[in-house]
Amino acid sequence: MSTAFAIVDPATGEAFTEVGMADRGEVDAAVRRAARAQEGWAALAPADRARLLRRFAAAVDAAGEELAALEVRNSGHPIDSARWEAGHVRDVLEYYSGSPERLIGQQIPVAGGIDVTFHEPLGVVGVIVPWNFPMTIAAWGFAPALAAGNAVVLKPAEWTPLTALRLAELALEAGLPDGLLQVVPGRGDEAGEALVRHPDVAKVVFTGSTRTGSRVMALAAEQVKPVTLELGGKSANLVFADADLDAAAAAAPGAVFDNAGQDCCARSRILVERSVLDAFLERLEPAVAAWRVGDPRETGVQMGPLVSAEHRERVAGFLDGSTPVAFRGQAPTGPGFWFAPAVLLPDRADDRILTDEVFGPVVAVQAFDGEAEGVRLANATAYGLSGSIWTRDLGRGLRVSRAVRAGALSVNSNSSVRFTAPFGGMKRSGIGRELGPDAPLAFTDTKNVFYATGDPAA
Ligand code: NDP
Repeated sequence: MSTAFAIVDPATGEAFTEVGMADRGEVDAAVRRAARAQEGWAALAPADRARLLRRFAAAVDAAGEELAALEVRNSGHPIDSARWEAGHVRDVLEYYSGSPERLIGQQIPVAGGIDVTFHEPLGVVGVIVPWNFPMTIAAWGFAPALAAGNAVVLKPAEWTPLTALRLAELALEAGLPDGLLQVVPGRGDEAGEALVRHPDVAKVVFTGSTRTGSRVMALAAEQVKPVTLELGGKSANLVFADADLDAAAAAAPGAVFDNAGQDCCARSRILVERSVLDAFLERLEPAVAAWRVGDPRETGVQMGPLVSAEHRERVAGFLDGSTPVAFRGQAPTGPGFWFAPAVLLPDRADDRILTDEVFGPVVAVQAFDGEAEGVRLANATAYGLSGSIWTRDLGRGLRVSRAVRAGALSVNSNSSVRFTAPFGGMKRSGIGRELGPDAPLAFTDTKNVFYATGDPAA
């Protein structure tokens, strides 16, 4: 039986609607429906699957404003960001609508016949997403999974289910078969675990905390079920003395305070070569002061509130007076889960601000001496998701980007995600890659078939 869960607007703190939470039985029913839908979907001609995915992309495009407004209300994302996110979902669907006709196998030279490979769909894929980027992360899972011939059962985060629910409606309106893309809002330990444990779910794509990801992996291992995990981060923004300091400092707030720091790619450690530390901080302070935090409905606002009261309390716990604060930005006061950006200057190497994922608008600045120490500090974390390297020396940019153990790096830029390129983490930031041209293959099994031709010489 569903229980209702109140959905809260983070900018006001007020509940504005309720969503029924799926229990284990409802997850089971969704997986059964998905399994039936998948059989018909996989049997369609590739060109027909491609056409339906393009129609789904067009439906998302037409509903862009509605999806963006839902994300502003449910997640507190600034409207400009939410519009970009809705457009990104459309683009990801369009990109993978090219895949059904391009899942090309191999023909391998063998004696006595021919040997060919097929990329067979897995069946039903479970996609479990967090609350920080509800619709984009969902699309990274469902678009390539559908393109490869699978059905998807998607579990959104309890706090932010609204855009996922609307996307599933749009899929139906666009003509995708009933049951092919279903959303089961529910608790992680109930609906989420039921999805991971379900014997008819062939693969799980999970994005969220490293702790929960490790639990999902352990549960999946019981059934030898493959997982893709996109987990936490503590990424470094390495600024060398030869960098364009104006550009590096101007871009640094966006690299960590975007989406209020609730971003697995947040560059939450800024490592600055000691000889330019003061010059960098002089430039960073006005950039942080100018970072616009406010009503997410207003165009031009760069950062809204944190997602919930509970999460704000967790983030505030990192400013308990034990780490020196260099300076802070502005934030509204009053109702809503506001938190002013903060720049910290830890004076101890074991300060937890250097090791723990804050997932809020808090950044630590640390000095280093020389390239080797910069790389050592960048790698002094259990995580390995993203990071940036600012330098005018091309050789150093190449050397350091090869030496930093992270899956998505940028040089003289803080951009981590392009849907045309693979994305994912090393170390405890995850397993597997999403996006890029190969993503649909992660939702297939390679089948090898040998056809004997009766060659008497073989
Ligand atoms: P979780 O990892 O707990 O949640 C992510 C998703 O997994 C949600 O849909 C959640 O459901 C679900 N889930 C929770 N428990 C289980 C389970 N046992 N089995 C299957 N699914 C489960 O992250 P939180 O939302 O609790 O965030 C905590 C911290 O994790 C953040 O502060 C941040 O540090 C990090 N995080 C990192 C993210 C990233 O993108 N790398 C994203 C989100 C969080 P439900 O919402 O119902 O709990």
